[in-house]
This record gives sequence, C-alpha cells and structure tokens, in this order.
Amino acid sequence: MAFLNLTEDEYIERYGPTPAYMSERDLEGEPDKLVKTHCCFCGVQCGIQLKVKENKIVGFEPWEEFPVNEGKLCPKGVKRYLQNGHPDRLTTPLMRSEDGFREAGWDEALSKTVSEIQRVQATYGRDAVAFLGGASMTNEKSYINGKFARVALGTRNIDYNGRLCMASAGAANKLAFGIDRSANPWKDIPKAKVLILAGTNIAECFPILTDYIWRARDNGAKIIVIDPRITPIARTADLFLPVRPGRDSALAHGILHMMIEWGWIDEDFIAAHTNDFDAVRELVKDYTPAHTEQITGVPAASIEQAAELWGTAETSMLLHARGIEHHTKGVENVLSYINLVLATGRIGKPGSGYGTLTGQGNGQGGREHGQRCNQLPGGRDINNPEHREHIANFWGIDETKLPREGLTACEIIDDIEMGEIKALISISFNPLVSIPDSARTRKALEKLEHFTAIDFFLSETAQYADVVLAGSLQEEDEGTVTTGEGRCVRLRPVVRPPAEARVDWHIIADLAQRLGAGRHFAHETAADIFEELTAVSAGGPVDYSGMSYERIENEMGIFWPCPAPNHPGTPRLFAGGRFAHPDGRAKFHAFPYRPPAEEVDAEYPIFFTSGRVVSQYLSGTQTRRIGMLVDQYPEPLCEIHPHLAERLGIADSDRVRVSTRRGQIEVPAQIVKTIRPDTVFIPYHWPGKKAANQITNRALDPISKIPEFKVCACKVEKAS
Ligand code: SF4
Repeated sequence: MAFLNLTEDEYIERYGPTPAYMSERDLEGEPDKLVKTHCCFCGVQCGIQLKVKENKIVGFEPWEEFPVNEGKLCPKGVKRYLQNGHPDRLTTPLMRSEDGFREAGWDEALSKTVSEIQRVQATYGRDAVAFLGGASMTNEKSYINGKFARVALGTRNIDYNGRLCMASAGAANKLAFGIDRSANPWKDIPKAKVLILAGTNIAECFPILTDYIWRARDNGAKIIVIDPRITPIARTADLFLPVRPGRDSALAHGILHMMIEWGWIDEDFIAAHTNDFDAVRELVKDYTPAHTEQITGVPAASIEQAAELWGTAETSMLLHARGIEHHTKGVENVLSYINLVLATGRIGKPGSGYGTLTGQGNGQGGREHGQRCNQLPGGRDINNPEHREHIANFWGIDETKLPREGLTACEIIDDIEMGEIKALISISFNPLVSIPDSARTRKALEKLEHFTAIDFFLSETAQYADVVLAGSLQEEDEGTVTTGEGRCVRLRPVVRPPAEARVDWHIIADLAQRLGAGRHFAHETAADIFEELTAVSAGGPVDYSGMSYERIENEMGIFWPCPAPNHPGTPRLFAGGRFAHPDGRAKFHAFPYRPPAEEVDAEYPIFFTSGRVVSQYLSGTQTRRIGMLVDQYPEPLCEIHPHLAERLGIADSDRVRVSTRRGQIEVPAQIVKTIRPDTVFIPYHWPGKKAANQITNRALDPISKIPEFKVCACKVEKAS
C-alpha cells in the first residue's frame, strides 16, 4: 500500500526520515479507534477525528457534526496528524553535556532543575527565576502554569507567548467593553450585511473562517478589507483600503469623521449605552478624508466609500487580527476600530458586533486562567485586593505570599539579558524564533545560570537549555481549549506519550512536589484540574463554573460566561446594549494617531512588515517537521512590488538582503503586485539565518507590551 501514491522509499526520499506510522503495516487494515478531538493549530480549533492504530496516529476522518467547521479542514489541519511519531520527538529527558546533550533519567533531570532553582532563589531572591508558558496549551495547563509559578516558585515573573499574539486585543476589549472576549459567535458572520476585516489575513491564518465570509457574501454582504497587502481575502473584497503600515488608527478616525459628518451614527445608542463619545467626536474632527489620505496613503474617495458602506449598513461585523494589533499602539488601533462599532450601536444583536481572531490554538483560553503576569485565574486582576484575597483563600495560602504583578514575556527576556533574572523554566515557547531582535534573545539565553525547557521537540530555544524535559503533544493529553469565539471545547486523549515522555502537567506537579508544594498539585486527572479551574472562576470576570467535561462534550462546546450547571452559556455578549463595565456602559477611547516607533528615512527608506503563511504555524516547531507542509512554502520569501523591484534592479527569485537597525536577512525575492510599493514582507516561521525576527523591532506597546512586528524601517538590496 502506498501513501499519496508514493512508496515508503519514495516518501522518505522526498520528505526526509519518515515516522513509523508511515510504514505499510500501519496503514493496512482498520484503525483501533477513531477519536473525536480538535486541530492542534489555530484558534478556530476545527473538529477532527484522528485514526489510531497501536498507539500511533495513522490518519484522520472529518468530524462533520462539529458545528464550527462541519468536517472542513485547511491545509494545516489535514496534515496535523503527521506530527505524532516524528523521529525528532523527544522521548526522554536530556541534560547538557560537554558535547551537546545526553539522555538522562527523570529523577536526575528533575533534581537538577529543582536544585538549580533553589540555589538561584537562595542567592538572588525568588523573582530571579522566571516562568514562560504558551497559548497553544490547554486551559488546564494554563491554570497549572500560573499556580505553579506563584505557589511553588513564588515568583512574580510569569508570562506566556500569547503576549506576542492577543495582548493588544485583550487589553482593548477590557478597556472598551469591560470583558475580554469576542462579542459574537462566528455563526453571526453570515448574517452581517457589511464586514470590515482589519489587519486579518483570514484565508491564511484562520482559513476555515473564510467559509463564513463567503456565506455572508452569498447573503449579499459587502466586504471591506484593510491591509498593506492584497491578501487572498482582499482579492475578492468590495472595497480594499491599502493602508500604509502603522497608520491604522488614523484610518479608523477618518472613517468615523465621515460617518459623523453625514449623520450615520446612532446618537440614541451612544447616549444610552456608552461613555466618552464627545472626546472622540472632537478628536476625529481633524481627520478629514484629505488629511487621512495624507497619513495613511488610502485615497480619500475610498475612505468616504468605507464610511458610507459601514455607516448605512443594516447589520455589520468588525473582525480584526494581528495586522492592527502588532504595533506600539496596538491597543489604540483596536480601540479606534471598536469606536466604529460603538458609534453605530450595532453590537449585541444577531449579525451585528465584533470579533478578534486568535492565531494560537488556545489564544482565548490561554489568556484567561492566570498564566499572564498581571492576571489571576477566572480573568481576575492581580492588583485588585479582593481578587487577590479570593485566589489566596482558594489556594490555601496567605495573600501576602501571593506574588505581585511581574514582567511580560519580552521584558523577562530583557531582564535576563541585563542579568536580573538568572534562571528560566519555559514550556512550549520558542522565543528565539518568535520574539523580535533574535540576536538580543540569543544573548539573553546565553546569560542564564540555569534553563529548563519542557517541550515535545528540541526547539531552537530548547537547544540553549541545561535540562530538557520531554513533554506532551496536544493529542497525548486531554483537557479543554477555548476557541476564538469563546467556545470551550474538549480535547480527548488520543495516544499515550511515547517512551519516557510525560504529560506536561505531570512534570509540573512533580517539580512542585520536589519544591515542597506538592499538596497544592495533588490532581490525579486533567478533569480534577478542570474542576478546580471552574470552581475558582466562579464569580470572576471569566466564569466557567457551570461547565463540566460531560456538558462540553454533549453540547459541542460551551461559551463563557457559564455561571451555573443549568446555564446555557453565552454565545452572544452585550444583549440589550448592556456591557461588562460596572455601570453597564461601553467606553469610547480618543487616542490621536501617533507614528510607529521607527519611521522610514534616507538610510532605511522602505517599510518592513512580517506575518504568516497558510502552511506554517507560529515558530514552525511543529509544521517545519511535516514534509508536505514544508513543500508548500519551503523557505521564507521577500514579497516586493514590481515597481520597487525595478527601481532596485531585482528580478523574481534573486536573493535579496533586507537590513534594519537590528540586523539583516537574505532570502529569495518574490515579485508580487499584491503589496504596497513602499513595503516589503517576509513571513516569520523559520529560525537562524532565515528568521524574519532577526530584523523586526522589539519596541513595545505601553499597555499590552506587544512588540511592533508589523512595521519598521528597512533597506533592500540585491545580494551578491
Ligand atoms: Fe486547524 Fe485552524 Fe486550519 Fe481549522 S483553520 S484546520 S483549526 S489550522
């Protein structure tokens, strides 16, 4: 039996060392079982059935009953089963030796980690140890990470890689609505008559959601796309606004200016359900179409057209993603677009509202249960005395022992570089590839006195560790994740971790035990952790207390808030125009446009922007190991407009050198008409010399502390 019409030998020749499941024996006959679970990649979390034979995943079947994707999967989803059993899979702990790593037993590896943590904390204080988690992990692990850092390590320095993804949207949601969640279920999208897609390459980053956009179009919707690149979804937009990188808030102000001018705002809704509109009305007076065109590069006529389409719509939804969020004013950008929604009063109704699209698998749930430096479980605020008291009591510790707010992910790396933080435990986080200015991240990792990494593959970052603990892939554990629409879904255990590898939260519990905090981590199953997580969330801003594994399975997911076992969950927020701020009103925000941290100049005259491609996921640790995905886009390419390429003497496929004040990268040019002539783009999923984050800018948003991935100044030359 052949796979994709290739013999096993042909497969190996084409895609490299083949996992054991590729052998003919594995693919013959009926599987032992089919397990209904979810894709391990983006925040859509499509339902999928994985085929298992002899504890190996050998294929998949569509799960047509799951309502979000109804059996459909994107190019990553149909290949996701190929990661399990890969020959690179870590199957035992590793410890640094003179010539790299050597295999070690669990007792030796865990003892080394614990003795080093104790040494560092005794010498430099508790906060000299930091913990970095991930937003692709389950809600259960997110909860355990936060509790472990605060109760077992006693450090304030815990954060996660969602800081690079959803932080601006999350902060803006809280400021505008008082709650951090998309307002509408995705099934509302096809009911909208006008859609604004702002900074979201939806067809490549959340591909299955494209289907919802097409359904809206079939129902007569008009689609407005805002982006510096004519992304696949933009190619079919009714109106495309090619914004200059870093100018998003000015464009939103310009659209609102015209809506006010032409009387297309809902004054009654604004008066009854919101605060602070007058400041916004005053602010946007200056953003005439001509002035906005000057800032953004978007023609004045297009700005007027957008205002007319959005202003006069019967129903409408705004969807946005990293394109407007990855900025030093990411929060301000999101708030400026939310102003457009609030000004129309079209929110809290079928087909009318707002959604932020999550790139990481558990981008939503990963930011709710306490692994952020400023947050406690249940979405509680670490600086709020009542919230601190509630959590300390629940955990059975004195409130004074609960650490205060610590540093965010990039700040932790900076503090390591400055020598303040001396030891690090990280889990499923690859900052060497995913944080801007990778030379600086490398310097920081080299400075650590001790580094333990928990991971399933030896990521580029884990290669700097002193101890590597072999953790679990998504399919090797069970738990829940919360999708980008706020629906908590159930991940079933599919296979056991291979050889000596262990389930992540078992590793954390073992470390806690050895650190003397074992009684706080006496969970026997993931269900025990979920029970604790839901109980502690009761009465908090993010309330899961009515959920159970059984209910989630039976109901194909439950939307929070779900405050009681007989509560149906809350797919659509803000019904009746009631928001989550104490006074029930939403809040407008008036931030004048300000430029990005780095502007183009004579030395660096071109805008640089970065993003994703459909075949890769985040830092590529998983997807760069799936041969058929690698084939789709084998290496990073630099998108250049033909006019710019001609001016620079560059032809398609020429190697180009793109330099910024941080460093340089050499990649082949891809001449495309789908990018602004003043901008170049490189995707960021590769490490080392292929890493786009060698050149991106680490400047942070003052509120969300997200780095400015989406704009900096560069120069482009043909490489010799
Ligand atoms: Fe997986 Fe996202 Fe693709 Fe669905 S859209 S199959 S969740 S990567």
